Amino acid sequence: MSILISGASVAGLAAAQRFSARGAEVTVVERAPGLRRSGAPIDVRGAALDVAADMGIRDTLVGHETGSAQRSAFAHIVDEIGEKVGALPTELPQDSPDDLEIFRSDLIDILHGSIGPDVTFVYGDSIQEVADTGDAVEVGFASGRAGRYELLVGADGIHSATRRLVFGPEERYRRHLGVYYGILSLPAELGADGESYLYSVPGRSVLISDYAQRTMGGFTFLSPEVAYDYHDIEQQRQLVFDAYSCVRGWKVAELLDALKQSEDFYLDSASQVHLDRWSRGRVVLLGDAAFAPSFFSGQGTPLAMIGADVLAAEWASCDGDLDQAFGRYEQTMRPRVRRAQEGVPEARDRIIPATWEAIEARNRRWPPVR
Ligand SMILES: Cc1cc2nc3c(=O)[nH]c(=O)nc-3n(C[C@H](O)[C@H](O)[C@H](O)COP(=O)(O)OP(=O)(O)OC[C@H]3O[C@@H](n4cnc5c(N)ncnc54)[C@H](O)[C@@H]3O)c2cc1C
Repeated sequence: MSILISGASVAGLAAAQRFSARGAEVTVVERAPGLRRSGAPIDVRGAALDVAADMGIRDTLVGHETGSAQRSAFAHIVDEIGEKVGALPTELPQDSPDDLEIFRSDLIDILHGSIGPDVTFVYGDSIQEVADTGDAVEVGFASGRAGRYELLVGADGIHSATRRLVFGPEERYRRHLGVYYGILSLPAELGADGESYLYSVPGRSVLISDYAQRTMGGFTFLSPEVAYDYHDIEQQRQLVFDAYSCVRGWKVAELLDALKQSEDFYLDSASQVHLDRWSRGRVVLLGDAAFAPSFFSGQGTPLAMIGADVLAAEWASCDGDLDQAFGRYEQTMRPRVRRAQEGVPEARDRIIPATWEAIEARNRRWPPVR
């Protein structure tokens, strides 16, 4: 069977490996000119570790751990002069303890490296038209190319083109949680002794996390939905400059300076995706495109990997009955997704309290560890 996967990130790469291991003829189309490696370290945990073992990459992932096991299970909260005023737990109550933390770039490379040469990758292109003819999906690409596939897997993230073309406009399915987050690598001199530090003013937080290999910075800020081009980094940088123009104290100025120079800055809305059904005909959604739990949950990556495995396994055993395969995929994944999507507002309010009172209450609840 010929399968087109839109998106070459965690969901798309895991799906490419899982489907091709089961004999499918797989093509992956990615909008970016190459694999996108930026982003903060992410967690692979629970059943996603079993999927990694089945894919033959678990030991490699372990070899690339960020060393989080040696790190504190909290971020120091600091005030405007860097005094420690609190210690915020970095784990959520629903997190499983078998957490393996890895840089997103390493995970992407390892997933990509696990895929055989029989999978075709097309970069710098995007699906533009989709027609499900019943026995095939006919796809027109932005480049002008056309293709005919038996299955289309939309693994193209929270702003999924597949979802828009087949299920309807994004605003029907994506719920903005009132927050944007931006992530970037920082120069070594902003390193923070192997620990994480968080500084908050009402509606705005910044984070510096130091790892053995590199230092990462983060901006998280409350904001209603803003219209911007998801592919225009300069517009995204400007959103952050505007949001922090009045914020002073701690290392905010240095972080904004680093943002000006950053080559790997990544910004997105903290959003969840909710659909009543993840498939239509020969088109099925996977990962954030189908069920983003949001940046706050720490579950987007494990869910994408587990979803890829479940989807490919159901497809392989359905004997051509795609409806049945997609139904079983949803049945298995829905409870996991529901759990991941719950509890997110609490995490948001911990990281970015909206008022000084809320900041002080948070700091009292989690007093400093010196
Ligand atoms: C560059 C980057 C950095 C990230 N950094 C973080 C982070 O720091 N913290 C965090 O919690 N989450 C981050 N994420 C999101 C995280 O990867 C996902 O929440 C999770 O891993 C589920 O992955 P996914 O493959 O479903 O979606 P995503 O990881 O969002 O991947 C979607 C992929 O589809 C591609 N794509 C989009 N539109 C099209 C199109 N029209 N045609 C073809 N391809 C398309 C994108 O370029 C991307 O490669 C980041 C995502 C990206 C792309």
